[in-house]
Amino acid sequence: MTSHPASATTTPLDVLREVFGYDAFRGDQAEIVEHVAAGGDAVVLMPTGGGKSLCYQIPALVRDGTGIVISPLIALMQNQVDALAAVGVRAAFLNSTLSPEESAAVEASLVAGELDLLYMAPERLVQARTLNLLSRAGLSLFAIDEAHCVSQWGHDFRKDYLGLSVLTDRFPDVPRIALTATATEATHRELTERLSLGGARHFVASFDRPNIQYRIVEKDKARTQLLQLLRSEHDGDSGIVYCLSRRSVEQTAEALRKEGLDALAYHAGLSEGERAERQARFLREDGVVMVATIAFGMGIDKPDVRFVAHLDLPKSVEGYYQETGRAGRDGLPATAWLAYGLHDVVQLRRMIDDSDGTEAHQRGQRAHLDAMLALCESLTCRRVQILRYFGQDAGPCGNCDNCLNPPTGWDATVAAQKLLSAVIRLDRERGQHFGAGQIIHVLRGKENQRSTASRHDQLSVWGVGADLGETEWRGVIRQLLARNVLTSYGEYGTLGLAPAAGPILRGEATVELRRTAPKRRAAASSGR
Ligand code: ADP
Ligand code: ZN
Repeated sequence: MTSHPASATTTPLDVLREVFGYDAFRGDQAEIVEHVAAGGDAVVLMPTGGGKSLCYQIPALVRDGTGIVISPLIALMQNQVDALAAVGVRAAFLNSTLSPEESAAVEASLVAGELDLLYMAPERLVQARTLNLLSRAGLSLFAIDEAHCVSQWGHDFRKDYLGLSVLTDRFPDVPRIALTATATEATHRELTERLSLGGARHFVASFDRPNIQYRIVEKDKARTQLLQLLRSEHDGDSGIVYCLSRRSVEQTAEALRKEGLDALAYHAGLSEGERAERQARFLREDGVVMVATIAFGMGIDKPDVRFVAHLDLPKSVEGYYQETGRAGRDGLPATAWLAYGLHDVVQLRRMIDDSDGTEAHQRGQRAHLDAMLALCESLTCRRVQILRYFGQDAGPCGNCDNCLNPPTGWDATVAAQKLLSAVIRLDRERGQHFGAGQIIHVLRGKENQRSTASRHDQLSVWGVGADLGETEWRGVIRQLLARNVLTSYGEYGTLGLAPAAGPILRGEATVELRRTAPKRRAAASSGR
């Protein structure tokens, strides 16, 4: 092991320059480092790529003793430790991948004061054995990375984080710094309270990522749309494509490879070895497209990811922001592209209904999804919406689809009334439960086997919506689902009325919707 050059007289700026090779601190880094180096507690909210690591690494080097870094990302610890070792920092980790002998060696060097930084997962830290070990060592600080994981209503809750409150009592004199790239005001409040950081100084950076262009499109044939995007704007670029299921990850990667792209699949169903190898290729080589579930990406530091594409709707704005935030960390233009459709709404709602969390947990998940849907359906600047979600103000950005190509709204009150009436009629008069497809057939008065067999042509609502095309109707249904005017339930996405439907049916509320781009008939097939 090499020894780092920091000494008692070394300043944070010296360490930044001599150890890490950077000229200057960025944003709040200098203030944060100074505060923690002086023994203060801190809560740091900074977007991905903002430079959170140095905020605890440098104080740990400037102060005496070992800095303990708590992170849930066991798979990345080796990388982080290697990167630090490469610049001469004495770093190690303790986790389940080590043999008992290796663990013992790390523990011995901790107690002997030979480590600058020691990484471990929260479940390890809270063990009585580990706490005893730490009390025999000289500690410079605790850094709690991905601190939003302590928030039960956040999108990434991890039970073991709750145990970290023990640090206040056990090590009252050791400064603590909690960091996250994901923080709504609610999460911020919750993590402050749960980690007992009420007395800490709070550093909240702007969450704007001005070089990322946000675009949300209606899903038609998602893979074809994706391919078109990659061909026309991201030829040869590195990027990430997120899909909801392992199966669609595999199929999408396969489809892209067939088109000659260097696409790799990544999901939790692969062996650890395969995942590590693919991740390494993505990091090392140019132009690799990683098709992945959200299992991929946390803690990945690749500066030149030029696009992040979502083929399925993320479950929350926090998740969307975090995933898209992996694009453009080098500050150069990057694209965040999401294709979303009616099916996504039905599917994600059903996943929440079928999940076995408590009612309160499901309510939280519904609220997260609703906020994501509102972002998708919004007629105004995406960035303004995202930043407002994180409690920050901004003006229209000029670098999102809604700013560049302002969508038009239309008065859909009558269309919504027709649709809601059809849902009621089919339910009340026939006791039949249909999904979007059949309702659209009825509204448009299109004969098919099922409508003929069920004598839908006798219904008063038959054909009342012939003035709109199938795609437009799908757009209406999707938006009414997103606004909780309609609900969907059951395996087939049966449509039903939600409370907000009443005022519309009674003519007490109007509905303005985003206009769906009309399509050539030939392309208007599945609509998925
Ligand atoms: P975060 O954890 O906030 O996502 P990182 O700590 O991984 O961000 O930093 C993102 C990238 O920016 C890294 O490559 C890091 O080396 C670099 N970086 C951080 N601070 C500075 C700085 N002051 N000057 C130059 N590069 C920096
Ligand atoms: Zn904008």
